[in-house]
Amino acid sequence: MISWITRWLSSDMAIDLGTANTLVYVKGRGVVLNEPSVVAMQTIKGRNHVLAVGNDAKCMVGRTPDNIRVIRPLRDGVIADFEVAADMIEKFIHKVHNRRSFVRPRMIICVPSGSTSVERRAIRESAETAGAREVFLVEEPMAAAVGADLPVLQPTGSMVVDIGGGTTEVAVISLGGVVYAQSVRVGGDKMDHAIINFIRRHNNLLIGEATAEQLKKNLGTDAFKDEEGNPKSISLKGRDLVHGVPKEIFVSEKHIYDSLSEPVNEIVEGVKGALENAPPELAADIVDRGIVLTGGGALLSNIDVVLSEATQLPVRVSEKPLLCVVRGTGKILEHITTMQGVLIGRPR
Ligand code: ADP
Ligand code: MG
Repeated sequence: MISWITRWLSSDMAIDLGTANTLVYVKGRGVVLNEPSVVAMQTIKGRNHVLAVGNDAKCMVGRTPDNIRVIRPLRDGVIADFEVAADMIEKFIHKVHNRRSFVRPRMIICVPSGSTSVERRAIRESAETAGAREVFLVEEPMAAAVGADLPVLQPTGSMVVDIGGGTTEVAVISLGGVVYAQSVRVGGDKMDHAIINFIRRHNNLLIGEATAEQLKKNLGTDAFKDEEGNPKSISLKGRDLVHGVPKEIFVSEKHIYDSLSEPVNEIVEGVKGALENAPPELAADIVDRGIVLTGGGALLSNIDVVLSEATQLPVRVSEKPLLCVVRGTGKILEHITTMQGVLIGRPR
């Protein structure tokens, strides 16, 4: 009876703290928050205050006066700014925390497999400050694999490649543990910058990060096709670097795709490296079972085909790759008794 009341009154949470997006799953309710990992800080009389987080803060990117800074505290897969990261975690938790509940929630938070113990402690402490009763941590590739319904507890090797904003995490999982993990500092952000650099070099036009990201997402979609489905040139607006004035140009989808070859190759090399380092029995399993792609970068047009050609292995994109990690963490939360073996770090 007591335990039933406790469960009903608390809202245990699973959090995917990504470099680009933070998602929160509440036990029994599903995914309740999905916002960019962005914080806008305002300086008033020399002191910093949080002005906005998430969607509200992302709208301000590239459009701020001097006293406002828009920060992505997890930009490269490590916590670049502890204090701002802590503020962000707290704000998101408060946003979803059911005020009626007075039992402090348990939380499972995903951390990059390459994060240091100092970073892990900082994440844990931020969640405790925000009201967590107990904090458990899980490695991101493990959560991604659970979210993609891979048999993580079985004695068989599963390979998951999570392509996020700041990093790509390549991991081989077996018997509830991460057997091999490698974090490559390439993800969606580097793709955006490759597009920006390409357009600057070839068209003398400076475009913003948001414009570049949109172009990347539109690759292979109808946005680049005319009504009959033929390729069309897409119009781009930015600042002319020669004359310093706003200008519009037209570029083809192929040029934008070509500009991504460098970051995509780095991801391919990371995956090949992991395949070379995987123990032979697990490598044999991967030959049979293939590779699963998760994270927003998995949505890049044709990335599965490129990886499959480079590795000669079957590659599939998970269902809803942007939600895979949070769903996996949520699943671990819902089945904590059978799945606790996949957690790292015990509550103190
Ligand atoms: P993280 O886990 O690091 O927060 P996500 O898994 O949320 O990252 O993925 C975010 C990245 O995915 C961003 O760089 C975003 O631009 C990219 N992305 C989202 N949708 C697409 C798409 N349709 N095509 C290519 N990239 C995409
Ligand atoms: Mg992620």
